[in-house]
Amino acid sequence: MPTRSAYIHVPFCVHRCGYCDFTLVAGRDELMGDFLKAIEIELSHVEGRPVLDTLFFGGGTPTQLPPDLLRQLIELIRSKFDLASDAEFSVEGNPADLSDATLDVLVEAGVNRLSLGAQSFDDATLKMLERDHRGSDIADCLARARERIPNISLDLIFAVPGQSLELWRSTLDEAIQLEPTHLSTYGLTFEKGTAFWTRREHGDLTQADEELERDMYGLAMDVLDEAGLAQYEISSFARPGFRSRHNQVYWNGGDFFGFGPGAASYQHGRRILNHRSVTTWLKRVLAGESGVGETEELSPEDRARELLVLGLRQTDGIEACEFERRSGIELQTLVGESIERLVKQNLLEHANNRIRLTREGRFLADSVAGELLV
Ligand code: SF4
Repeated sequence: MPTRSAYIHVPFCVHRCGYCDFTLVAGRDELMGDFLKAIEIELSHVEGRPVLDTLFFGGGTPTQLPPDLLRQLIELIRSKFDLASDAEFSVEGNPADLSDATLDVLVEAGVNRLSLGAQSFDDATLKMLERDHRGSDIADCLARARERIPNISLDLIFAVPGQSLELWRSTLDEAIQLEPTHLSTYGLTFEKGTAFWTRREHGDLTQADEELERDMYGLAMDVLDEAGLAQYEISSFARPGFRSRHNQVYWNGGDFFGFGPGAASYQHGRRILNHRSVTTWLKRVLAGESGVGETEELSPEDRARELLVLGLRQTDGIEACEFERRSGIELQTLVGESIERLVKQNLLEHANNRIRLTREGRFLADSVAGELLV
């Protein structure tokens, strides 16, 4: 099968939020012109003229590119790829900087899905997260955007220091009232190298305790389901017909192109990771060198285990015959004993000829994955 999905990493933000370890530069807008040149060079290595079913601009903050540069970036991509007539074209945006001029560019370019980094509606929580928007900006932004791009997803973060279960409940309620088509919820993580990590080490920030984080995740599952946003992946909830097609390509072990610093590509069992330093990636690509940081050739067994673990992230789980057809490896031989042990522990279950995480298993998805990857 030809590769029919592409991810473009746009590594610009006004400021690096304290918890963020993504590949980006903050306050370096002067690099935007070079970024476009480097993307053009990376694109020149693509053979033929592939057709895309899904195209995703993530970051960083893609909407931080001024409208003329955003238009140029989209034109570059579209000069190399055709979009299928029903393609999903998603762009991540920040409620603080989604201007009408930017929306014009997105709509003209055929963007039909917007993913907004709302994170919270509570100003104190947003301040703690060092976000540059206020709670009230989200509804304003969504009202302006929705008239033009009705398919809107919101990202929310829970387990933020100082956030109570009640505050999380009201965040979920406010999100539901805005009627997004899709919602993603993430527990705050403290990644090494971030400002939050250092602050926690110095006792300046207290991480939410595990029980509270668990309660918050459980609450999200219950409340969103009741509101008609059905969970379909560990962190993802959608109204019928609005699952993220692009992310499902990842979770179904499909192939995809990736362009930009830190972006990953996956093709025929080969994973290629671009350099994570924006400036190194830029320097190398502009000098005519490779921007690739790492390449990994997965063995058939590694591919099969990865297919299994990614598939199990989805609430539908996996079907043994389909798994075997795609991986060429019998599920029972690969992980039969581990699966039965996890079933006994009530973390996995057999349902309708499929294997999937139980509700309890969703709380412990990382441990389940750890067992199946060994
Ligand atoms: S806006 Fe998003 S990508 Fe940018 S620094 Fe904050 S968390 Fe990271």
